[in-house]
Amino acid sequence: MKITSILGTIAAALLLTACQPGPKAGKVDAARLIAAETDTGNWMSYGRTYSEQRYSPLTKVNTETVGKLGVAWHYEFDTDRGQEATPLMVDGTVYTTTSWSKVFAFDAKTGALKWSYDPKVDGKRGFSACCDVVNRGVAVWNGTVFVGALDGRLIALDAATGKVKWSTVTFDQSKPYTITGAPRVIKGKVLIGNGGAEYGVRGYISAYDAASGKLAWRFYTTPNPEGKPDGAASDKVLAEKANKTWFGEGWKKTGGGGTVWDAMAYDPDLDILYIGTGNGSPWNRIKRSDGKGDNLFLSSIVALKPDTGAYVWHYQTTPGESWDYTATQHIMLAELNIGGKARKVVMQAPKNGFFYVLDRASGELLSADKYIPITWATGVDLKTGRPIETPGARYETNPALAIPAPYGGHNWQPMAYSPKEGLVYIPAMSVPFGYVNDTKYIHKQGAWNVGIDTLATALPDGNAAKAAIKAMMKGHLIAWDPVAKKARWTVEHPYFWNAGVLATAGDLVFQGSAGGEFVAYNAKTGAKVWSYQAGNGIIAAPSTYSIDGEQYVAIMVGYGGAAPLAANFALPDRPRLPGRLLVFKIGGTDKVAAFPAPEKMTIDLAGVSSKGSAKEGFALYHQNCAVCHGPNASGTYLPNLKTSQMLLTEDNWKSVVIDGARQPMGMISFKQFLTPAQAESIRAYVLSEAVKAKAEDAAAMATNK
Ligand code: CA
Repeated sequence: MKITSILGTIAAALLLTACQPGPKAGKVDAARLIAAETDTGNWMSYGRTYSEQRYSPLTKVNTETVGKLGVAWHYEFDTDRGQEATPLMVDGTVYTTTSWSKVFAFDAKTGALKWSYDPKVDGKRGFSACCDVVNRGVAVWNGTVFVGALDGRLIALDAATGKVKWSTVTFDQSKPYTITGAPRVIKGKVLIGNGGAEYGVRGYISAYDAASGKLAWRFYTTPNPEGKPDGAASDKVLAEKANKTWFGEGWKKTGGGGTVWDAMAYDPDLDILYIGTGNGSPWNRIKRSDGKGDNLFLSSIVALKPDTGAYVWHYQTTPGESWDYTATQHIMLAELNIGGKARKVVMQAPKNGFFYVLDRASGELLSADKYIPITWATGVDLKTGRPIETPGARYETNPALAIPAPYGGHNWQPMAYSPKEGLVYIPAMSVPFGYVNDTKYIHKQGAWNVGIDTLATALPDGNAAKAAIKAMMKGHLIAWDPVAKKARWTVEHPYFWNAGVLATAGDLVFQGSAGGEFVAYNAKTGAKVWSYQAGNGIIAAPSTYSIDGEQYVAIMVGYGGAAPLAANFALPDRPRLPGRLLVFKIGGTDKVAAFPAPEKMTIDLAGVSSKGSAKEGFALYHQNCAVCHGPNASGTYLPNLKTSQMLLTEDNWKSVVIDGARQPMGMISFKQFLTPAQAESIRAYVLSEAVKAKAEDAAAMATNK
């Protein structure tokens, strides 16, 4: 062969590769997803398999070798809010998302960036995100990557190039909906729900044709407030079962809630899709449904046919939900030997503190046991399937200090199940919360509408009292035996809000923490066998994959979510830092730069004053600001108001609070909720907290000397 023809062949081959990078990227289909269990190298969907067990059969990284785990490659992102995504790996490409719904594709072996996509979400949508502007990841199907953007768009991207194939809006963008969850694909349909029940929305899940983006079906989880059919898959079952469980007018203003913002699982044999639904809107049933009724399908596991959205069965974990006890938490499928019989089950640890095991085909309740100590109920009656509530837990006449808090005994952080150990690893929390009926509640369009007196969430005076509250907020990793119905081991964490979990056949359980430690535990005993300090808090769940005989463990690093917004006083006092993807392998030698040391922000408060009323400001602050800036202006996850330049003058403050100068970051104008005089009273209050904090700092400095 002549040199020219060899070159010609090479050139043609290169041209072919350059022109057709597509056919090999993201070629996931029904057969591959159904057989994902045995496709050990890839991690092709959110929970690795349709059963969502987050269990990898890979064993190269195991209790013997894990000590040699080092960073193989890493990438630093351009967003510094919470990172909740599970990275997928399909045929050599890692796909992940960051806060603000941005998508990234990497060479899974080298970490070279293949492409990235920014949906350019308008910052003001951040106001409707109760729990940070997060995103939990993508779905991959037939050469396409699907992402649900915070602003409600479901976007299909070419898996090879990141170019938009189609984009469709999944909700009424004039309403306070958001998407943070990862889509799933079943038989050519992309499934996506949404969130927003704290602000006032009606929950539903939609299925779109993966090729065209056309809506295939929709299932609403609460009745139509106008009392008419929706022309949706849910019409029949709402009329038959749900409508009669709602009372009064409160829910008609909000839509009732029940949002499908996270969990899904699929059983290909039964051909059933399982979804989890969210809390009531508002939380307080007195305000939502005249204090009565089960309010179907709030806080439920609902089984549907994935082709049509037709109802199969449901189980409601918290009838008449009144505490933000969602059942959107991780749903996983498994086969358990119960009473000598192999049972195909659905398992869930929803917010309410009970671990549920149900028959997958019929929805029959098999067991429900407390995975943490709780106060709102003493148990679940297995005959009726209903919780046995503690008298007074509904705070109808008196305030109730209840565990779990609205954070839940377990939140969105994924669990993992090891069939080898027969254990479910639960990232759990024990947090108390003071529920007080808000007797002055009125629905405010688009605002925080939960029906709870937010003044009850204010912190007590004095460091000792604050420390006592902090000490009550605990985080655990629980190895739960779903057959014996008890914990086999528990790891206690220093902080309550930690990360999702991965289990492997290498007898390991991986979990990150608020403190930034990424840890491998012995799956049998809970003994810590390896750790890596990431320098920033971790909330995401890891994934693992293998290429050319090497096993990789991938984790998104970046603290955020609901708790750092509303309860940063009980969490590590660390500034927000850019998110990172860290990918480990045995013998990895990549060097990861330390994050820069935090700068201590101060402002000079000498001569700064306000003509507002700090007393009035205290109430207004807790009604309007505390859920994102923390009780008593204690928040430092969003800019610390006590050291902000905003605080120095009335004009600075007004430009942000009333005129919306920081809208691109999510701080909308509060003109619709506050008068300028009220805003100034909030400034007077925050100023008083800033002065107090300065004095406390000075006293602490003096003591240290
Ligand atoms: Ca909620």
